[in-house]
Amino acid sequence: MSDPLQAPRGTFDILPEQAPLRLTVEKVTRAVLEGAGYERIETPTFEATELFTRSVGEATDIVQKEMYTFTDGGERSLTLRPEVTAPIVRSYLQHGMHKLPQPVKLWYLSSCFRYERAQKGRYRQFWQIGAEAIGSDDPAVDAESIALLAEILEQLGVQGLQLRVGSLGGSAARERYRELLKTHLRANEDQLAEDVKARIDLNPLRAFDSADESTRAVMATAPLLLDHLDKEDLDHFAQLRLLLDAIDLPYVIDPTLVRGLDYYARTVFEFSSDALGAQSGVGGGGRYDGLAEQIDGPPTPGFGWAAGIERILLAAEGLPEPEPLTVLFVAIGDDDPATRAAGFALSTDARRAGIPTQIELAGRSIKGQYKHADRLGARFVATVSGAGVELKDFESGDSTAFDDRDAALAAVLRGKGVA
Ligand code: ATP
Ligand code: MG
Repeated sequence: MSDPLQAPRGTFDILPEQAPLRLTVEKVTRAVLEGAGYERIETPTFEATELFTRSVGEATDIVQKEMYTFTDGGERSLTLRPEVTAPIVRSYLQHGMHKLPQPVKLWYLSSCFRYERAQKGRYRQFWQIGAEAIGSDDPAVDAESIALLAEILEQLGVQGLQLRVGSLGGSAARERYRELLKTHLRANEDQLAEDVKARIDLNPLRAFDSADESTRAVMATAPLLLDHLDKEDLDHFAQLRLLLDAIDLPYVIDPTLVRGLDYYARTVFEFSSDALGAQSGVGGGGRYDGLAEQIDGPPTPGFGWAAGIERILLAAEGLPEPEPLTVLFVAIGDDDPATRAAGFALSTDARRAGIPTQIELAGRSIKGQYKHADRLGARFVATVSGAGVELKDFESGDSTAFDDRDAALAAVLRGKGVA
């Protein structure tokens, strides 16, 4: 049964008191990424289902059980985006962005949708910030992108951060390794959790993610992909590490780092925070050199990451409290329609002059209006009545009477140091 008075399970309202913190996340993200030449992109909330089944991968949790898929009036299968990388690569290909100087660097702040078990830090609609650099396989792209996310998380005061990096190599090495791993899993099949066993053929690498005790014991002796990479991929990984070392960004190499999306190749990484408990992933990403081909585009290398805004906010400390915005409150001194009109005109003039202004809208008593202005943090209250305008400046404590609105307005502007 659905209740029209409740937001759906796993979703939440962003209430006005939470909006300023989110704006801070957006501002910091924008400043850091645009400072490095990234430009903002926004893709549709839904895409052709096939975009995700082909890129994210049929065998992944996301495609198997987390997608919100529906058929529209034209019998098309559409899916609310569970992630934004595939849509952005789709957009890059659709708009011929390969003709631009490469790599094309794009950032986003978008909502994503996954049918998951809702709990703290895990929702069914959540927001991601993310960055994608498409069109170059230079390891400097990887290092720079990781460093930019590190900078954003640091500026936002995310506590207890740890960075893990790994490499999945290219598809040939990964294919060979998958066979080795499958052999190991089959040899120990009786000790594996049911869901791992069921996916030996489909997605053996996911076994490294299992929380099951006895599965973990089997994985502790499993062959590692990092030991089976081609020379070129090892070189790429070595260059990435050299660049990360050059900027003193601490990281640990995690040969078992498996991400829940099939399109990754070569570099993968994840930032986690020990301030988060069970849902510890703050953000992560990697290189997806095969993604464009998976959706029928030409070979196009790419690198990107996404970080969850809700988890950033859960793990952040010391973010600034929002400043009150209202500068002027226009109080209505009596019930006369002409007074109301004069007050209304004053508030509109003030806004046109660039002064953040609110006006009494609920018929409060004069005392109530002053209280309200105080709650709003207004510096000035202009009380309009038949006699003119009385302007109170809360900073200096002065009250001044004016015959007309323009003079009162000029005084507000002077008080603010504007004129
Ligand atoms: P997890 O392992 O926690 O399920 P993930 O590997 O599925 O995360 P990604 O697909 O890499 O996550 O998404 C990037 C980031 O988006 C995550 O690090 C996390 O901060 C955030 N995120 C992912 N799923 C959710 C969710 N259901 N609710 C809130 N944030 C999420
Ligand atoms: Mg997940």
